Amino acid sequence: MLLEKHTLIHLQEIKSKGRDTPYYWIKAAEAGTVPFTARYVIGADGAMSSCSLLSGLRTKQPGPTGYGLSRFSETGDEKINPGTLTFYPLPLLGGAGWSFHGSNWINQGVGGLVKLKQLKKAYNHLFRENQKKLKPVSWPLTFLGPLKRAGRDNLILAGDAAGLIEPFSGEGLYNTFKSAILASSALTRAEMENKEAGEVYNNLYREHFRKAFIAVLAGAVLLHGRSVIYPASLPRQIENLIENRLWFNRPFP
Ligand SMILES: Cc1cc2nc3c(=O)[nH]c(=O)nc-3n(C[C@H](O)[C@H](O)[C@H](O)COP(=O)(O)OP(=O)(O)OC[C@H]3O[C@@H](n4cnc5c(N)ncnc54)[C@H](O)[C@@H]3O)c2cc1C
Repeated sequence: MLLEKHTLIHLQEIKSKGRDTPYYWIKAAEAGTVPFTARYVIGADGAMSSCSLLSGLRTKQPGPTGYGLSRFSETGDEKINPGTLTFYPLPLLGGAGWSFHGSNWINQGVGGLVKLKQLKKAYNHLFRENQKKLKPVSWPLTFLGPLKRAGRDNLILAGDAAGLIEPFSGEGLYNTFKSAILASSALTRAEMENKEAGEVYNNLYREHFRKAFIAVLAGAVLLHGRSVIYPASLPRQIENLIENRLWFNRPFP
């Protein structure tokens, strides 16, 4: 059964005497949806993850640690070179601005670990020419850091739900894909070895994310210090991060 565009509102673990493993009772918000059960749950529902709260792996909804602010717009300018990405280091705001193009559109934005008001100022300063016609949209950023445990019984959290945003660049896709691979291998191993998926996943999660996080955080602080002293180094450092070339990056499993 595949249910798309449904919103999880209820998740309950059922442990019954007659069964070795628990199962999950799941309910969606949409009218007419019948509750169903599942043997495994992978919570990949983002930074505001309901799964992490409903499963008790996180005890409260995280607040924003920063903001992003950006705008897509049509340019109609044929001279623009698609594929060019420009960074604007904003080290004192704990972030950066960016600008990249498609053939007839442009995305311009800023992100950082400060209040929205300060970022709006930075946006207006960087993209002065667009101030009047382009109102940017904003969104909260949550740099949570890895959880103590991201699995319990047969429930697993992956991606932003598991707090895997890279703290210097704000990139989350790499770790999201990495955690998805680890989650699927945990499920396979759990089936083969008759173990709980959460237990298998927690070991992988500890090894790949939690143990490495102190080094990742130290790396982020060093890179940040460097970009305060030498702002022009920021784009190269982000490139190094994306390419997995820094000493604190763990290789893909
Ligand atoms: C504007 C923006 C730009 C970004 N740019 C980059 C970038 O350039 N590079 C990079 O590496 N990272 C970037 N990130 C971060 C990256 O997008 C995330 O780290 C990544 O998308 C996390 O993937 P995810 O699947 O864990 O969560 P998400 O992509 O957040 O997906 C979660 C999904 O779960 C769904 N969901 C939530 N609650 C429920 C519910 N109760 N029931 C059912 N479904 C639910 C949501 O609708 C959503 O579809 C950016 C983030 C933002 C906001």
